[in-house]
Amino acid sequence: MGTELGKYKTCVSARSTSKEILKKAQDGGIVTSLFAYALEEGIIDGAIVSGPGDEPWRPQPYVATTVGELMASRGTRYNISPNVSLIKEATRSYGLDKIGIVGTPCQMQAVRKGQLYPFGWRDVDDKIKLAIGIFCMENFPYQSVKQLVEDHAAMKMESVKKMEIGKGKFWVFGERGQVVQLPLKVTHKYEQPACHVCLDYVANLADVSTGSVGSPDGWSTVFVRSKNGDDIWTKAIAAGCFETKPIEQVKPGLELVSKLANEKIGKNQKTVEARATFGVGKALRNPYIKP
Ligand SMILES: Cc1cc2nc3c(=O)[nH]c(=O)nc-3n(C[C@H](O)[C@H](O)[C@H](O)COP(=O)(O)OP(=O)(O)OC[C@H]3O[C@@H](n4cnc5c(N)ncnc54)[C@H](O)[C@@H]3O)c2cc1C
Ligand code: SF4
Repeated sequence: MGTELGKYKTCVSARSTSKEILKKAQDGGIVTSLFAYALEEGIIDGAIVSGPGDEPWRPQPYVATTVGELMASRGTRYNISPNVSLIKEATRSYGLDKIGIVGTPCQMQAVRKGQLYPFGWRDVDDKIKLAIGIFCMENFPYQSVKQLVEDHAAMKMESVKKMEIGKGKFWVFGERGQVVQLPLKVTHKYEQPACHVCLDYVANLADVSTGSVGSPDGWSTVFVRSKNGDDIWTKAIAAGCFETKPIEQVKPGLELVSKLANEKIGKNQKTVEARATFGVGKALRNPYIKP
């Protein structure tokens, strides 16, 4: 396995020990449990998460300052949730000094970029104390998710209990037990085009990153990446927040994570190169200088 998985100190398969969190978690409830632990221990005094918005399955970022508020964010909503846009607000309006934030790999890149070049983020960059990344192959505009659910899966958005991408399918689970699986060849054309130049599958820049792939159903694969992430994760394990298994002992394991990361990078690298020759690259050159 090479650079496709980013740098990490440890990788395990894990699941929250809280039955309450697991009831509505997307996978092993890693994000909610780790933020809940960090909140209770005063490592963070709030977390920027994404919960249900004003339309069914439209995500809405918000600042959670209690475990109760964190609970509303459990589960994945497969469209863009501008979590990073709340960072300034979290410190100014909510008065947070120690912020947690969850996001997709591109959002983790934005967080780190903001910390390195804090224009407009004065006094904010050093307040980010726990950045949790979630794996991400692709994302969808809200209208596209609606179309997939209503037109292709023939369900109403408000009657959907869970959505999931896994085992090569887009799954829609209804409140009354219905299950519809759509082949990914149906969903591809709905993906947001920006995702086709994205080269990070496993949130390389997060303190801790997690996703379902690689682990059995109901469990999560967890990469502990930074020293900060390692300190918090180790304490959370010692406090009994998670049960863990060595990643080498679970199926399908890291090999699948690696395969999917390589597929994403390989496919999208071609799009990056194609776009560079498609006019974007040319447009960036000075037209008065002969190549
Ligand atoms: C667009 C997208 C694509 C994904 N693709 C993959 C994939 O290909 N393979 C894979 O293994 N995992 C993927 N995931 C991650 C997976 O679906 C879970 O989010 C992850 O495993 C965390 O589960 P959990 O049980 O630990 O989290 P929970 O405890 O259930 O908490 C979920 C957290 O995710 C946050 N969240 C929900 N929706 C969004 C959103 N749209 N943007 C930002 N944050 C959000 C919530 O704030 C909450 O804190 C994807 C997630 C998203 C949002
Ligand atoms: S595929 Fe990349 S650009 Fe698209 S949402 Fe996921 S991390 Fe962001």
